[in-house]
Amino acid sequence: MVFEGLADKLQATFKKLRGRGKLSEADVADAMREVRLALLEADVNFKVVKDFVAKVKERSVGLEVMSSLTPAQHVIKIVNEELTALMGGTQSRITISSRPPTVIMLVGLQGAGKTTTAGKLAHMLIKQNKRPLLIAADIYRPAAIKQLQVVGERLGTPVFSLGDKESPVTIAKKGVEHAISLGRDVVIIDTAGRLHINDELMDELANIKQQAKPHEILLVVDAMTGQDAVSVAETFNGRLGLDGVILTKLDGDARGGAALSIKAVTGCPIKFVGMGEKAEALEPFHPDRMASRILG
Ligand code: GDP
Repeated sequence: MVFEGLADKLQATFKKLRGRGKLSEADVADAMREVRLALLEADVNFKVVKDFVAKVKERSVGLEVMSSLTPAQHVIKIVNEELTALMGGTQSRITISSRPPTVIMLVGLQGAGKTTTAGKLAHMLIKQNKRPLLIAADIYRPAAIKQLQVVGERLGTPVFSLGDKESPVTIAKKGVEHAISLGRDVVIIDTAGRLHINDELMDELANIKQQAKPHEILLVVDAMTGQDAVSVAETFNGRLGLDGVILTKLDGDARGGAALSIKAVTGCPIKFVGMGEKAEALEPFHPDRMASRILG
């Protein structure tokens, strides 16, 4: 499970700290050294780690101890609050337009989990009594269109496709028009990825953005790719302006660096996390719950 290594290390550090009655500055400094190492090993961005440790130290040293907490509990509370803040503080939701359809554009590299996530998102929206329509605009990855059609059939959700001969921009634009004619209230565009970021991809996505006017542009990134996921998020955000990130494959043994770095580095909140391959395996991202899970 994600964060396993980090959770083990932090919990061991704080267990040691709890064993002491009073905390000296040196005790706190020792613990923070271990926290720093654990975060770096979890592949958290170097600067994020540095700022994080500085903040916790600043708040921990010369602490006015609350009578209800031991000094160690107090430090743990601070770490918990700062981890939560690092991941965005509170849950970030998607914007539902007051004038339907809400248009959601999924972007990302090939293999990140875009098509799978489009299906999961549709499933989640159906459960919230919404009527989504999926648009198959990934014309480059063989089988992506078919994959989306299979997902749509399973969910009983219409899938708009023009095959792989039309441009993704045309498909997206016509798909949104089709959704309006069918009275669907949410549109999810599964855009084409590439193996790597290039200008062609970015230009195409910028064109789709211009034509389809999405309310939400969500980047789908694979948590297993660690700091690469963070730099992918930076680049996409710079070119397109992201409204949020969906971090996939958190059910795997990702170290967690992406989850802890993306918001701090890019300013974009993580809105959902993928926890498996099934349609139900998409969850809203709760920074506070994630922090509590790490600290045990
Ligand atoms: P795309 O190229 O971005 O459209 O990627 P796909 O949607 O085809 O996903 C690539 C692979 O990742 C597929 O085998 C998916 O089943 C798998 N996948 C996607 N999301 C998750 C997730 O949250 N957890 C796990 N374990 N696998 C996932």
